[in-house]
Amino acid sequence: MTPEEFRVAGHALIDWIVDHRLASEDRPVRAQVAPGDIRSRFGPPPTTTSSVDDLLSALERDVAPGVMDVQHPMHFGWFPSNASLSSVLGDLASSGLGGLGISWESCPSLTEVEEVVCDWMRQLTGLSDAWSGTITDTASTGTLTAVLVARERSTELSQNQGGFQAEPKPLVVYTTAQAHSSVAKAALLAGFGWENIRTVDVTEATQAMDPRSLQEAIAADRAAGKRPCVVIANVGSTGVTAIDPIAEIAEITTSERVWLHVDAAMAGSGMLLPELRHLWHGVEQADSISWNPHKWMGTILDCSLLYLRDTAHLTAVMSTNPTYLQSAADGEVTQYRDWGIPLGRRFRALKLWFQLELDGVEAIQTRLRRDLANAQWLADQVEAAADWELVSPLTLQTVCVRHHPPTADGSVRSPAELDAHNQAWVHRINESGRAFMSTATLNDQWMVRVSIGVTATERRHVEALWKMMQDEAAVA
Ligand SMILES: *Cc1c(COP(=O)(O)O)cnc(C)c1O
Repeated sequence: MTPEEFRVAGHALIDWIVDHRLASEDRPVRAQVAPGDIRSRFGPPPTTTSSVDDLLSALERDVAPGVMDVQHPMHFGWFPSNASLSSVLGDLASSGLGGLGISWESCPSLTEVEEVVCDWMRQLTGLSDAWSGTITDTASTGTLTAVLVARERSTELSQNQGGFQAEPKPLVVYTTAQAHSSVAKAALLAGFGWENIRTVDVTEATQAMDPRSLQEAIAADRAAGKRPCVVIANVGSTGVTAIDPIAEIAEITTSERVWLHVDAAMAGSGMLLPELRHLWHGVEQADSISWNPHKWMGTILDCSLLYLRDTAHLTAVMSTNPTYLQSAADGEVTQYRDWGIPLGRRFRALKLWFQLELDGVEAIQTRLRRDLANAQWLADQVEAAADWELVSPLTLQTVCVRHHPPTADGSVRSPAELDAHNQAWVHRINESGRAFMSTATLNDQWMVRVSIGVTATERRHVEALWKMMQDEAAVA
């Protein structure tokens, strides 16, 4: 494809994207396809070329139907996966520039715009200048990086000798049952092993980590000849958006000389609002933080931020510095390849830059506040309704609910009956394509998570959802 051909095709693609976005409300939320449906629309490898028009028709006909519309105003599943069009433009600019991010020298702008944007985001979320940031693909990668760096701090860079396998004492990771699956995955990949992942008790009402239990678990491990290494705390856990008490946990990790990583993947966007920053009070005493602009804030996937205080230690763990990448600028510049696992990186900073310049922080803040108010409205309806339970206190924008269908004789339903009932009504709504919500268990009992925060979702959509929930849950 020549640049001039790209110009024409690019305009056509942008037009297609705009039409697709504008038609969101006419589509079902959930992709109405069965496993294998999409694959079966593809034949053998193409041997001739297509026109752009034909290809866009095929995109519309064969691919788009298999995309769950998470930008749909009636999408309340998992978490808001907003893809602001301003950031889409930045993504396109990144791809179109075709730069190579393997060192400062290979693309100075890539490194320096990333430094600027990470520092802007630091300021916009109220963090002190003790923190330095980098953009990773996902929070999973951020947590894995933090766990690896924590392991090497506990072992004083054991990687330079026999590695952690030569350590006399097993290293231990601490988190709660609310932690995202990426936390256990990071610990397993970093070699800790299931036996060395502690599930610290939570306070029942809030599902937040109980600092006393953390202290006790650390003491018990020390007594058993193990070495406490890292605590991974949640600010906005995956299930019920639990907020662990960071300040109290940080007091323990500081005195115990244990690394503290804060997983704020979902709630980090909320830190753009000064009135929510109490949620991560104490975060300045942590060692690392990760959060995802690619969720509620709305930067197109993939864009996750990882902040650390001790970047000298980070680069000591991650640096390899092969001769073919050395340049005269070394020592004066940031080499992001020494801040994480991959060598080559995309110019992701452009997406954040474009979004901040074109949408503006104030508009983003206004949208987040709208979503908080909508979540509060729904939580209020649930609390006021006779047969509905707010399963967990509302901390952010995800409303966790359960319906308790009345019985003729006033008897209480068994847990199994409640599970079947709640899964049935939410399944009917999801299948219909009218709206989408996720289900998850809390203490082995199913609940429904209504995650509010898609850019297109207004109060009327939440009202429509609440009516739909009540109607469907009333079906026998
Ligand atoms: C979404 C989420 C993650 C994982 O994020 P990825 O960027 O998809 O890896 C981790 N932790 C929490 C609390 C999350 O909400």
